[in-house]
Amino acid sequence: MSDQPPESAPATLGEGFNVFGLKQELMRAISEAGFTIPSPIQALAIPAVLSGRDLIAQAQTGTGKTAAFGLPAMNRILAGAGNGIEILVITPTRELAAQVSEELYKLGRYANVRTVAVYGGQSSRRQVEMVERGANVVVATPGRLLDLLTSGRIRKFQPRTVVLDEADEMLDMGFAEDIEAIFTHLPAKRQTLLFSATMPPAIRKLAARILTDPQTIDLTSTAEFKTDVEQFFYVIEESERAAAVSRLIDSEEPGKAIVFCRTKRETEALCTTLVARGLAARSLHGDIEQDQRQIAIAAFKKGAIDILVATDVAARGLDVTDVTHVFNYHMPFDQESYVHRIGRTGRAGRKGKAITLVTAYEFGKLRRIQHAIKASFIHGEIPSIADVHRRHDAKLIKALCKQTVHDGVVDILAQINEEMDIGEAACKLLSMLIERRAVSGPDRIGLSGKRLESVLGRGRRSENAGYRQSTSGERRRRPDERGRDDQRPPAAPRPQGDEAGFRRVRPDRPARPETGEGQFWDGKQWVRGRGKRAPG
Ligand code: ADP
Ligand code: MG
Repeated sequence: MSDQPPESAPATLGEGFNVFGLKQELMRAISEAGFTIPSPIQALAIPAVLSGRDLIAQAQTGTGKTAAFGLPAMNRILAGAGNGIEILVITPTRELAAQVSEELYKLGRYANVRTVAVYGGQSSRRQVEMVERGANVVVATPGRLLDLLTSGRIRKFQPRTVVLDEADEMLDMGFAEDIEAIFTHLPAKRQTLLFSATMPPAIRKLAARILTDPQTIDLTSTAEFKTDVEQFFYVIEESERAAAVSRLIDSEEPGKAIVFCRTKRETEALCTTLVARGLAARSLHGDIEQDQRQIAIAAFKKGAIDILVATDVAARGLDVTDVTHVFNYHMPFDQESYVHRIGRTGRAGRKGKAITLVTAYEFGKLRRIQHAIKASFIHGEIPSIADVHRRHDAKLIKALCKQTVHDGVVDILAQINEEMDIGEAACKLLSMLIERRAVSGPDRIGLSGKRLESVLGRGRRSENAGYRQSTSGERRRRPDERGRDDQRPPAAPRPQGDEAGFRRVRPDRPARPETGEGQFWDGKQWVRGRGKRAPG
């Protein structure tokens, strides 16, 4: 932003928000929340909402949407000094309702904005009471809200501003009819704001019905929030998923990771496996009681749990800013879920890694997602046990170099030196440090050699079929399609992954030359033949 302060001068908290002309009380809360510069969606949405217009906004999760609608909407309450419910926010899940109402409370408290969350699984009597006792903002899930409206238990419900938060999510979860029904209870004269990470046709249709002459904001094409997430994929056999995730966790040592599974049962099973391996993991899915879910999420935020194994529904919209890794244990069902999932990491300007496991069978789907979201995927090889050890060694050495020397160790060292020489002592100390390292599982995980090449080759072919033109534009042979030009010397290196739309890690290993079957990596180069023999 142009009003970004120079790096040398620390920004006055909240300063970048001055331009909007928000009330004093809101500015105080913004500054206490530690916000300095409005995020892009905030910079665009706040003036739009203040103007009173309807709005349809597309932005990824973690981009600050709650404040983007909450601040200007709350600013308008103050201006009108109205009574009763002025703002209704509809969110897909209980977790999100709790999260959004917490954020709105935080931002609105000095302005005396009273916020109530209304969702299933908790006493509706209490929620109704709080609504009637002069709340200004209701944050609700569709099912419970519709119940209360149709049964007439919430009366005089005339919100001036209605927000659909994570609208695509609500439709995915089958709330389309509930939402339509809710709108029959809402005043015709209202401001309606629709926020969504993706804009499938169903959302556009809904928007056409409930919005009037909306302003449109689309921030998904700006690279800003995407480039912070590096997207890797690993090709594995179906039976290797758990071993692959475990190995990658051992190797990556994520600060905080979310592992996405397809079903509740899969979530439970994987979580059990990870816990058995000594990892601080918890599962999160729809069958887990609400309060247990909240305990798990709180522990994850605090860092008491490093890994959440979750279903899409349970984890979406989770506001945890420092997730370092997102694993797709299984491919998501569609590109929208993929976008949602990887939006859990790389938030608030941090870097993130998204790691997707695919079988040969699922590879085409991965290609379609890649094409649809115009992402650049990096093909990785699952590290062997020795690879992981090397990585840990390097980290240990780095940490050792940085380690400061504490008082008193010189004395201890002198005492040790009476028993043994310093070299032996160093070896023993290092052994103590690495004793707890346990990298288990098979040494090699994932497809290798011919099968892998054939899978990656398939991806390249579909690209030539129209996804993206490779530089040569030639259709490439399958490894089993051999032709006369196989007689050419194998010197010409196989085109690097980039050409196929993928980058590959392991730059230390040159790409395999494209000369047909029977090639293997002997540790130094690609050679023809079988087994570990030198070529020729
Ligand atoms: P979204 O709804 O787009 O997923 P949230 O509204 O949940 O995003 O915001 C994500 C996190 O970023 C929250 O913890 C929020 O407090 C924080 N945040 C929002 N706006 C700013 C800002 N301008 N500066 C710093 N942090 C912000
Ligand atoms: Mg949100």
